[in-house]
Parts: sequence; C-alpha cells; structure tokens
Amino acid sequence: MRSSWPALTTLGLFAVVASTALAAYPPDPSDPPPPRPPPATAANASAPRSANEALRWLMGGNAWFVRGGGPVRPIGPDDRAAVATAQHPFCTVLSCADSRVPPEHLFSAGLGELFTVRVAGNVADPVTVGSVEYAAEHLHTPLIVVLGHERCGAVTAAMGSESLGPNLDALLGLIRPSIQGAPDLDAAVHDNVQGQLAALRKSTILRTLEEEGALTLVGAYYDLDSGEVDFLPSEPPQAAASGAPRSGPSSGGSAKSSPPAGKSTSSAARPPASGKTEHAPQGH
Ligand SMILES: [Zn+2]
Repeated sequence: MRSSWPALTTLGLFAVVASTALAAYPPDPSDPPPPRPPPATAANASAPRSANEALRWLMGGNAWFVRGGGPVRPIGPDDRAAVATAQHPFCTVLSCADSRVPPEHLFSAGLGELFTVRVAGNVADPVTVGSVEYAAEHLHTPLIVVLGHERCGAVTAAMGSESLGPNLDALLGLIRPSIQGAPDLDAAVHDNVQGQLAALRKSTILRTLEEEGALTLVGAYYDLDSGEVDFLPSEPPQAAASGAPRSGPSSGGSAKSSPPAGKSTSSAARPPASGKTEHAPQGH
C-alpha cells in the first residue's frame, strides 16, 4: 500500500509548509503578530480539510502564539452554539499532560478545532490509542500530531530506574523502550515521540487509514522557552509497521535546520553530518 503514501509524505508536508514563510524566531517585538488563523469550524469554508491544510493552520496558530498574539481566541455563546450538537475537529493531538503544554493555547485554537488527548509522556497505550482511533475513524480528523516537549518530567523519570509505584511505573514502562541509549533528555523526548508514533501505527485502524492516504501521523516538539512547535520527520507507514520504535526518519534529518544551542537531537531526529537539511518549517 506504499503507493498511496507519496501523495502525502511527511517530506511533502514540509515542502508545502516551508513555503508559507512563517515569521522567524526570535520575533521582533515591534513587529505585529502574524494573522491569527480563521476559526476552523465546520461552517467556515476555509477550515482545514486535509492534513496539509491542518498542518499549515497549526503552524499559523503557533506563529500567532509565539509572537504573543494573544491567548486562545475569545469564546462566546455563538461559538458554543456552533459546536453544541456536533464536532468536526481538524486535528488530533496526543500531548503530554504537562500544565505548560496545552495544545489549544500553543496552536491558538478554540472550541471544536482540536481533538486533544493528554497524558503524561504523551504515551500511546490502549486507552489513548482508542481515543485517537475514535477521532480518526468517526470524526475523520486528517492529521494526528504526537506532541512532546522540552524538559518533560515523565521522560525525565523514565530515564531513571527508580520505582515510583505501580501506576507510575506502568506509565514509565511505555516510555522506556523508546529512549534506550538516548544521550540526554532532549534526545529522549524526541525518541519518545517517535516511539509513540510507532505505537499508534500498530493500530490496524490508524495504519490502514494512513496507508489509504486518509490520515497523516506526524511528531512534534514544543520548546518551552521560545513557544515554538517544530514538526518532526516521521517514518512512512511500512517502516513503522515492521520496524523498531527507534528507527530513523524517512527523510534522514531533523525538521530543524540546526538544533538549538545547548540542545541535542535524538538518534531518530539528528540532522545529517553535513548539518544541511531539507527545510526549516519554523523559519530558523
Ligand atoms: Zn511532559
């Protein structure tokens, strides 16, 4: 079924979004923020309908957030009424439960726009995978984002071997297999994102939708300091279905043109030796 993939490869997604020329970081405080994305309600004809459009919308929303454009869009009675009887979210986000990482804020989204599944360490266990399956199969979200973040406490705990009790140990056990050998926390966070993507792709429902071209899965990393969300290269469906969680990305490089100072990228997202990568979707 690989023939269905090239129409919407992750690399293709970045080629599209890289051309949107988002504002560079750090922003100039004297510059006005970029336009806030229009409401992505079902009644809005400009609402994202494809993974490409959804990703572009998310990047625009994050650019608004980074530039200090304001919090989540104001929500009034009309907004509640618009989604009171049905929901048509354009994206599913599996993110960490960390209080500093609310997807609706990071992407400047409002009611009914994101189907958000949050759990410490953004882990894909049967419960969270079931939620993601529901959104993909019944709400037809075209894009799934697994969102890891800088200084993740769950990944930090998973890098240790101390027992934290049966429940936390069960959660950390979903992270540890993906981060073996990671040289530092930032690399482990990136590896965990790739590992949870691989776990999602073990779902027959999600893998089939992805192979049919109806669904795109992508990893992302949130920088607590800058507010930026970087979208990461991911594996094509066939590699994910048969490979180990920590295998490298199909593009062979990070989505970032270079890792930020003082940070490192994981074995799964480290840029090639030349330091040159194919795109810089966040304007680095
Ligand atoms: Zn976290």
